[in-house]
Amino acid sequence: MKSDIEIAMAAKMRPIREVANALGIHEEDLELYGKYKAKLSDTLWEKVKDRKDGKLVLVTAINPTPAGEGKTTTTVGLGQAMGFLGKKAVIALREPSLGPCMGVKGGAAGGGHAQVVPMEDINLHFTGDIHAVTTAHNLLASLLDNHIHQGNSLQIDPRQVVFKRVVDLNDRALRHVVVGLGGHAQGVPREDGYMISVASEVMAILCLAQDLQDLKKRLGQIIVAYTYGGEPVTARELKASGAMAALLKDAVKPNLVQTLENTPCIMHGGPFANIAHGCNSILATRHALKLADYVITEAGFGADLGAEKFFDIKCRKGKLKPDAVVLVATVRALKYNGGVAKADLGAPALEAVKKGFANLEKHIENLQHFKVPVVVALNHFVTDHKDEVAFIKERCLAMDAEFAISQVWEKGGEGGVELAHKLLETLEVKESGFQVLYDEKDPVKAKVEKIATDIYGAAKVLYTPHAEKSIRRIEAMGLGGLPVCIAKTQYSFSDNPKLLGRPKGFDVTVREVNISAGAEFIVCITGDVMTMPGLPKLPAAEQIDIDEDGRITGLF
Ligand code: ADP
Ligand code: MG
Repeated sequence: MKSDIEIAMAAKMRPIREVANALGIHEEDLELYGKYKAKLSDTLWEKVKDRKDGKLVLVTAINPTPAGEGKTTTTVGLGQAMGFLGKKAVIALREPSLGPCMGVKGGAAGGGHAQVVPMEDINLHFTGDIHAVTTAHNLLASLLDNHIHQGNSLQIDPRQVVFKRVVDLNDRALRHVVVGLGGHAQGVPREDGYMISVASEVMAILCLAQDLQDLKKRLGQIIVAYTYGGEPVTARELKASGAMAALLKDAVKPNLVQTLENTPCIMHGGPFANIAHGCNSILATRHALKLADYVITEAGFGADLGAEKFFDIKCRKGKLKPDAVVLVATVRALKYNGGVAKADLGAPALEAVKKGFANLEKHIENLQHFKVPVVVALNHFVTDHKDEVAFIKERCLAMDAEFAISQVWEKGGEGGVELAHKLLETLEVKESGFQVLYDEKDPVKAKVEKIATDIYGAAKVLYTPHAEKSIRRIEAMGLGGLPVCIAKTQYSFSDNPKLLGRPKGFDVTVREVNISAGAEFIVCITGDVMTMPGLPKLPAAEQIDIDEDGRITGLF
C-alpha cells in the first residue's frame, strides 16, 4: 500500500491559476506562491462580496481515539466527491502546524486518496502564515520586555506577565524558562515560557478578524500583563499593534490549494482547538461561501469541543449559518468507547460497538440541539464488520440522523459519492434552524454551566478558588459578556480522558480562567491542557528525509 506522501506526489496537480479560474477567479485577484499555491487578493473580496452565499457544511466527529478519526480525510474526500458529481464545492481547512507534523501526528492535509496538495509544502512552512504569526507574537513579547527594561513607565509587574513567547515546534524544554539573565544590560530577569505558535492569541485573532483593520484593533486589545496595581496592560499601550498588523498583512489573506482531484481548497489559519476555537479563518470561510455552492469545513477535536466552538464562537462572530453537519464516526472509535483496548480495535466486537454507540448518540443529540441537520459519515476501515455497520446505521436512522458509509481514504472522491448524495438530499429536504447555545451577555458561569450540562452531560461545574478570582476580575474589567472557549480533553465528554462512552453524573472542574481580550473570548481551562506539546520517544521527524532530487520522504 502506498503511503500518503507517495499518493500525494503522484497527484496530477493543475496549476493553481487554473483551479482558481474554474472558480471564476482571475489571475489579477491572485497572489501566486509558486505554481501550486496562491493567496486571494483583497481585490477579489470587492468583486464577490454581494453574491449569495453557498451552503455551509461542518465536518466534525465523535470523541476521537488517540489516532484521530479521519475528520480532515472525510472533509477533503467529501469535497472531492462533490466535484466528482459535478457540483461547485470548496473545502475550507486549517493550516497544519509544524509541531505535530514533526511529533506524533504527521501531516494534517487529509490521508490516503483524500488529500490536499502540494502535501509536503502545506505541511512544511506553506505560505509562511504561521511564521508571520510567530513573528508578530514574539515582537509583542520583545516590546514588553524592552518596556520593562527601559524604565517600565506602565508599571508592569514582571511577575504578572501573562503573554508568553511562541515557536512552531513541540519543545517541552521551553515550557518554563527564565529570560533576562546575564546582568544589567540584558533586560529584567523574570519567569517566562513558550507555547506552540498555533496556541498564540494572535492566531486566534487572525482567524476571527473580519478584515485587516479589525485584526489591528483586536491585536491592540491583547492583555499582556497586569500592573503592580492589578490593572491590565494591553498591546496597544505598548504601541505594538501597528507593527504586528504590518507583519500579518499577507498572512491575513486566505490561501488557495487543491485536492488530489483538483477540488479547490481554501486553507487558512490554524488555531489550537483547546485554548482557542480550532477552525480555519472567518475570512477563508466567507470567501469560500461566495465562490462556491457548497463549502465543506472542519472543526478540531470531537463535536463536544469543535462543533460547539464553531457554532458558539466562529458562527456567532462571523454571522455564519451552517446548513448541515457531517458527523464522522468509525467502528474502531465506537469499540474504543465501548471499552476495547487500542491494540484490539481490528477484531469484530459488536457488543462493544453497541455500548460505544452511546457516545455517537450523545453527539447526534447535541448537534440536533443546535437545530442543524446531521449526516453521520462512517469512515470505513477494512476491519469493519457488516453487522457492526448495520447496527450503527439502524440506530442513526432511528434518531432522524442520515447515515452514509465513506470510503474516501481508499477510493478518493468516488468513495464519497454515497455520502455526498446523502448530504445533498439532506440540504434539499431538511431546513437548518441554526441557533447558538447561549446568550453571550449571560454571566460567565451561566455560560460554562450551559455548555457543561447541555453538551457534555455534566451534573455540575466546580471552580477552583483561582478560577473564581479570575472570573471576578474578568467581569470587573467589563469583559464578562464574551463567548467562552472551553479547554478540555478531546477524549471524553467529561474533563477526565478515561471516562469514555457517554458518562453521566460527573462534575467538571474549571481550574483556570483566562481572558483573550483580542480574540474576544474567555478561556476556561479544565483538566491539564498543554499549550506546548512535547516530542514522543520516536519523533516523526526522525523518519523525514530529502533525497538528491529534492524528493521528501517520511511525511505522512
Ligand atoms: P482528524 O482530522 O480527525 O484528526 P485525519 O483525517 O487527519 O484525522 O486522519 C488521521 C489519520 O488516519 C491519517 O493518517 C489518515 O490517513 C488515517 N485514516 C483516515 N481514515 C482512514 C481510513 N478509512 N483507513 C485508514 N486510515 C485512515
Ligand atoms: Mg484534522
